[in-house]
Amino acid sequence: MKTLLLNPGPVTLTDRVRQSLLQPDLCHRESEFYDLQDEARARLLEVYRLHPQDWSAVLMTASGTGAVESMIASLVPPNGKLLIVQNGVYGERIASIAKQYGIAHEIVVHEWMQAPDLARIEACLDANGPFSHVAIVHHETTTGRLNELSQLGARCRARGAQLLVDAVSSFGAEAIDFDKANIAAAAATANKCLHGVPGASFVVARRQAIESGASRTYYLDLARLATLQAQRSTPFTPSVHAYYALVEALREFEEAGGVPARHARYAALAEQVRLGLAARGIMSILPPEHSSVVLRSYALPNGLDYEALHDALKAHGFVVYAGQGNLSKQLFRISTMGDIEAADMDRLLKAFDSLVK
Ligand SMILES: *Cc1c(COP(=O)(O)O)cnc(C)c1O
Repeated sequence: MKTLLLNPGPVTLTDRVRQSLLQPDLCHRESEFYDLQDEARARLLEVYRLHPQDWSAVLMTASGTGAVESMIASLVPPNGKLLIVQNGVYGERIASIAKQYGIAHEIVVHEWMQAPDLARIEACLDANGPFSHVAIVHHETTTGRLNELSQLGARCRARGAQLLVDAVSSFGAEAIDFDKANIAAAAATANKCLHGVPGASFVVARRQAIESGASRTYYLDLARLATLQAQRSTPFTPSVHAYYALVEALREFEEAGGVPARHARYAALAEQVRLGLAARGIMSILPPEHSSVVLRSYALPNGLDYEALHDALKAHGFVVYAGQGNLSKQLFRISTMGDIEAADMDRLLKAFDSLVK
């Protein structure tokens, strides 16, 4: 039995992407590699139809956190200041990164279940500014909440600040209006909504933002990566096979209809699971209109702890995901990224029947 991954990345691969890993061994100093790198960078901009004149997609060999770290460390200028909107684990991680690099910052802390409070964010911008950037997690995978970007971006634009977006678990599946939201850059990874394998991640950034950034990190220096990649070069040895998979996944993504199609596909699967679990007395934590289509969190049924739930579902061929920190006692998470069909989710729901009475 094939085990299906319902955790928030890495995802269950399509056969087409899996087969792409078996292409010839490639030296990263040969033109074949640079063709691959060029195609990946061009296709990443195409996902949101960003114009290469103004935007650059910069690849790196790292997990999603590497791309977020690169974006924060490289794009806040030496004399810049960062406001961090925090309502989950990944917002906390951005704050840890800012602290690690000694970047001037303020944090607007929310409860993990709360939506960002625009009034509090505006008050902080006004009381402690000027800020060059505001960092926010688009889809806070901690809870499945989709944080709104465009209204926040408009408030920031009025105060001369641009958004740095952790879009690791939304890039490719949720709409992002880069202009309206006044976004300077978004960081993401190959192995979530794009359906590649772990090892390749990227920052999509305004060229102007890269030029006015800072050089605080060696390996993750965005400006150096951008410059060398534009010259068909690379500073270090990239995860060549992960790039094979990323390019194949991006081709498949475009052929399938791009962001609208992936959004619709995930939405149908997420709603199928939400309604099916509700019928079995297991309720989603957030209403669907506040949730991403990528992942939903659900209240653990009474008398069933997470380990028991996880192990029983794994025996049926499904890997679900725990809540983080204190939430591990309250909730579990189901992501519907990857090569998953409605029939698979029917089987998942049937597997729940043997667990809940
Ligand atoms: C998965 C994820 C990350 C990065 O996690 P890695 O394990 O480093 O790939 C960052 N932010 C969000 C919102 C995520 O969901």
